[in-house]
Amino acid sequence: MMNDPNEITFRKSVDLMFDRATATMDLPLGLAEQIRSCNSVYQVQFGVKLGDSYEVFTGWRAVHSEHILPVKGGIRYADFANQDEVEALAALMSYKCAIVMIPFGGSKGALKIDPRQYSEKDLEKITRRFAQELAKRDLIHPSLNVPAPDMGTGEREMGWISDTYQSLFPGQANGMGCVTGKPVHLGGINGRVEATGRGVQFGLREYFRHPDDIARARLDGSLEGKRIIVQGLGNVGYHAAKFLSEEDGAKITGIIERDGAISSADGLDVEAVKAHIATNHGVKGFPGADYTGNGPAMLEAECDILIPAAMEGVISLQNAAKIQAPLIAEAANGPVTYAADEILREKGTVIIPDAYLNAGGVTVSYFEWVKNLARIRFGYLERRNEERRGQMLVEALEKMLNTTVPQEIRDQLTTGSDELALVRSGLDDTMRNAYNNIRDIFNAREKVVDLRTAAFVCGIERIAKRYESMGI
Ligand code: NAD
Repeated sequence: MMNDPNEITFRKSVDLMFDRATATMDLPLGLAEQIRSCNSVYQVQFGVKLGDSYEVFTGWRAVHSEHILPVKGGIRYADFANQDEVEALAALMSYKCAIVMIPFGGSKGALKIDPRQYSEKDLEKITRRFAQELAKRDLIHPSLNVPAPDMGTGEREMGWISDTYQSLFPGQANGMGCVTGKPVHLGGINGRVEATGRGVQFGLREYFRHPDDIARARLDGSLEGKRIIVQGLGNVGYHAAKFLSEEDGAKITGIIERDGAISSADGLDVEAVKAHIATNHGVKGFPGADYTGNGPAMLEAECDILIPAAMEGVISLQNAAKIQAPLIAEAANGPVTYAADEILREKGTVIIPDAYLNAGGVTVSYFEWVKNLARIRFGYLERRNEERRGQMLVEALEKMLNTTVPQEIRDQLTTGSDELALVRSGLDDTMRNAYNNIRDIFNAREKVVDLRTAAFVCGIERIAKRYESMGI
């Protein structure tokens, strides 16, 4: 976290990154200020009776930019949550949605709470009350403001929020679209839980398709065999580490958690580490790995790719100069402060920025919202038709070539796309296109000094065009 007195706040850090981007652009006077400003932020304090006593909680919902409605952004549960952080995260959401061309404005919410200190029953009570406070002010609404999971929340909380909203406003055909990241049996979509980590994988795969970009990070080849250190084995970090190691042949050589870090030059088994954390509440004692109680020190260890996937501000003035990884893949929001970003650029470290790389969550949330509004699952109409066409193609090939199509190819051709396959395809397309949009800006514009600035330029240009056409 940013506890160095020389560090500015998270929101100021995001604003300075924004300013660095707009300094390379030619926006009409005042428009940058309009885009950068957080339109509104609502703070709520509410009491909940837990057992025999009452406890008062503080929460926020910030709406950064309403150039498109609804606005979208996760709700985080963290004991360190504050308004500045919520505003920073809401701003990142606006730029993120524009970068990956998902038609939402930016929002974010948080509740100041350590969820690990409460029973499931109490958490449900608190969540329902928070949802009620937000919903009655239209800060949860299928056409105006659609929350999603973030740090400390997941499917369970989204299910409670959805039910609370629909109990308050029954009879709305679109009610289910008031929140995304719900369990599939409650109107969620297949592939949402893994989406942010999957997006990190797809983003890194696209990066590794461009030899010039890989060389800029002083790396070569593919993801195969690359040594990766991951911070945070939660939703995002776990899925990213799992997919990159199991499907791309990367080696997870270090995992940093709250209680310390473990490492192994041969690579860690991500599933086994996850199971160990579930029973032992930390990485300490994981068999066959070296352990250190100083987790943050492992951010500085030698590796090919560093994936911070826990929280903001972990790479700061205090450690930026010591980071050895030549490539940082920002799975978390805001893991690198503005000051650290400057130091790392000077050092030649390549950063694939958060506003692009962790957009998989909001992308699949968009698919879920569309599914809720359309009230039909993806692939429902076309799947069997696709299979029939595949079958016809196999039969035609066999007849024309007088041979048998091998079973593996036959299976591929005769299997229609189900919802999960379509979600992954849409996510892959989104991550590939967005990376290419960003690198085109980086390569074409001399004043754009890194991928983060390019990503910001990409998003800001799209928001600016929208404002200009709206005529405000
Ligand atoms: P999570 O709560 O599921 O996981 C966070 C993990 O980080 C946990 O395992 C926790 O123990 C660990 N952690 C917390 N503090 C740590 C510390 N100081 N050092 C090491 N490990 C620590 O949260 P998540 O949903 O995976 O979110 C992680 C990051 O990704 C956040 O920055 C969040 O804003 C961002 N993000 C999440 C999503 C999403 O869909 N969940 C989407 C986009 C971005």
